[in-house]
Amino acid sequence: MNFRLQGIGMTSQRTRDRMVKRLQMQGIRNPQLLSVMATTPRHIFVDEALASRSYEDTALPIGHNQTISQPYIVARMTELLLENGPRQKVLEIGTGCGYQTAVLAQLVDQVYTVERIGPLLKKAKDRLWELGLKNIRYLHSDGGWGWPEFAPYDGVLVAAAPTEIPEALLAQMAVGAVMIIPIGDENGQQLHRVIRTESGFEDDVIEPVVFVPFLTGKQ
Ligand code: SAH
Repeated sequence: MNFRLQGIGMTSQRTRDRMVKRLQMQGIRNPQLLSVMATTPRHIFVDEALASRSYEDTALPIGHNQTISQPYIVARMTELLLENGPRQKVLEIGTGCGYQTAVLAQLVDQVYTVERIGPLLKKAKDRLWELGLKNIRYLHSDGGWGWPEFAPYDGVLVAAAPTEIPEALLAQMAVGAVMIIPIGDENGQQLHRVIRTESGFEDDVIEPVVFVPFLTGKQ
């Protein structure tokens, strides 16, 4: 692996191992997930000036008023997504810097990721390519429409909070599919797990979270 990807000092393997220990103390159990987070260089997903803070359990700015999700929330959402067995086709809304995408791509067959801010998507794509992750398709669009071309999906992960679940996302779920999505507004958000059954949708509230708002249109 090249030195930039490997990291040194505050971006080294030891720092990643400490982050994983913290995730375990926070209740994350999935061994494949923990191993992927131990080896994925999170520091390349933020600006160089912030690299030394990239393994702290905080959200950091990635430009365009957006943030990289904190390691715990990436781990928690991924663990919930994989809880009922492996997933083949996962739709991700809100690529951002691409870190969550990198984690997903190492745990499921194919990731379809949608981002409304063009320059963020382009940067994420370059980084994920540098990491050698090729099972990812990218779309510059308002994720409120989902990605009908490749539907149905057996997993959907949403990284920005709408006030209610966009209809198109529900419609693009296969029977048995699971969606992990924050719902709410500036007064409070909850993480939800939605499962599509033969007869409809089961919706469970998991825990309070803080996400950037789900916006419409693209830029
Ligand atoms: N998992 C990402 C989270 C980034 S923050 C990371 O760790 O970097 C959420 C992202 O969702 C932002 O990049 C924002 O532009 C995007 N977003 C918000 N509303 C969206 C929408 N309607 N469609 C697609 N992306 C959206």
